[in-house]
Amino acid sequence: MAVPKSKITRSRRGQRRSHDALVVDNPNECPNCGELKRPHHVCAACGHYADREVVAQADEIDLDEDAA
Ligand SMILES: [Zn+2]
Repeated sequence: MAVPKSKITRSRRGQRRSHDALVVDNPNECPNCGELKRPHHVCAACGHYADREVVAQADEIDLDEDAA
């Protein structure tokens, strides 16, 4: 098993992790509902892509009704 020769200091560890941050996608506005959406993805709010509905949306989802 490979064993580190010496301790990585907090400073070294931090320098390595300085490039690890995740980058958020640049959001676009949905042309149908105006909600912010990921580019080249179906709108999560209304299910539209390129001005047509590709994912049918349920009118209302009542989670409490299922649990009872
Ligand atoms: Zn939308």
